[in-house]
Amino acid sequence: MRTTKLVRRLAGVEHTVVESVETEQAAGGVVLVVRVRPDRSARSRCSRCARRSRGYDQGDGPRRWRGLDFGTVPVLLQAGAPRVSCRVHGVVVAAVPWARARSRFTRDFEDTCAWLAAHAPGSVVAELLRVTWRSVRSAVARVVAEASGRADRLAGLRRIGIDEIAFRKGQRYLTTVVDHDTGRLVWAAEGRNSQTLGRFFDALGPGRAGQLTHVSADGAEWVHTVVRARAPQAVLCLDPYHVVAWATTALDTVRRELTAQLKAAGRKDAAKVLAGTRWALVRNPEQLSATQRGTLASVKDTNRRLYTAYLLKEQTRAVFEAKGEHGHTLLAGWLAWARRSRLPALTKLAKTITRYLPILRNTLDHGLSNARSEATNTHLRVLTRRSYGFHSPEALTAMAMLTRGGLCPNLPGRTAQLST
Ligand SMILES: [Zn+2]
Repeated sequence: MRTTKLVRRLAGVEHTVVESVETEQAAGGVVLVVRVRPDRSARSRCSRCARRSRGYDQGDGPRRWRGLDFGTVPVLLQAGAPRVSCRVHGVVVAAVPWARARSRFTRDFEDTCAWLAAHAPGSVVAELLRVTWRSVRSAVARVVAEASGRADRLAGLRRIGIDEIAFRKGQRYLTTVVDHDTGRLVWAAEGRNSQTLGRFFDALGPGRAGQLTHVSADGAEWVHTVVRARAPQAVLCLDPYHVVAWATTALDTVRRELTAQLKAAGRKDAAKVLAGTRWALVRNPEQLSATQRGTLASVKDTNRRLYTAYLLKEQTRAVFEAKGEHGHTLLAGWLAWARRSRLPALTKLAKTITRYLPILRNTLDHGLSNARSEATNTHLRVLTRRSYGFHSPEALTAMAMLTRGGLCPNLPGRTAQLST
């Protein structure tokens, strides 16, 4: 194999002529500089629409793109960046076959970067690829923008879940739309109000909005109002996991109040014990460690009020697991029990749930299984907490679409099976 052909293969570039390969001493050590140019078929194309265009000028001279390392040696592709005059887009930099428009990285590099970002902590990606996290974010944004342009993500939606997710310590919000049938995130935008959600329905259009059969959401009234106006035929359901989350919050409120009462009564040791029961109480029973099961058993023996709150939390889960007729019976039982529990947090929750009873009944009747969308929402909440430094809603949305929207690229060059 000739060297230029070998280099072309290593660099993973197509429609590209390799002119020369040289080493160069850089600040961090030796780098490999590969001089390239687009071949005849890829030359003089608009970087925005790929239309063949008339040459304009030489632009700002040669540019460099970071490629995947050859072994341990960093690789830079170098080429001229002439400008062309596109009939539609005017004077723009000519497209290059090895990189996306406005990127300082090759396609393979960006795809690898995005794949890694979806699968590993940010610090690992940055260290392995020797890039800043800022570069990772912009690579993800370009990969996602390209992939979302390829497919209509809003086609064929029937059952969707609408949710809101806080980020930047609850200062800002994203409104998200998940497809219940695939579990995929199909739409996300900053904001949590009727205008934001209105933009989703604008993108969907009246025809496709008319095809929706079920829409689940939390208790937010503005969501219900928009859905009733834009997709009146869809059955509105209350997302079960929100109800379980409300009950969990109520349980925790009871625990904190009881702890405060003990402290006020001077029973510091007992207060400390109660403060330590939190995880045993709020976690799902099947996830408890042996110690936590012991903690739960001692709460049962020593603190009737707190244990009642715990059982009420668990019963909300049982309601949705049962669904249908049995679910209705359990729900009625839950409401009666919560109302006479004499636990303010729970009697208050009973009032809230009574208010949402019509759409809660829909959830039970239609058996809307939201395991997939719940997994997606849980994942998104984890994303917002990971040390990815999401300073902009765009970056967070792009990352969410990458990991939960089905837009993650394959690793470059992985068509053949090769395992050792
Ligand atoms: Zn163009």
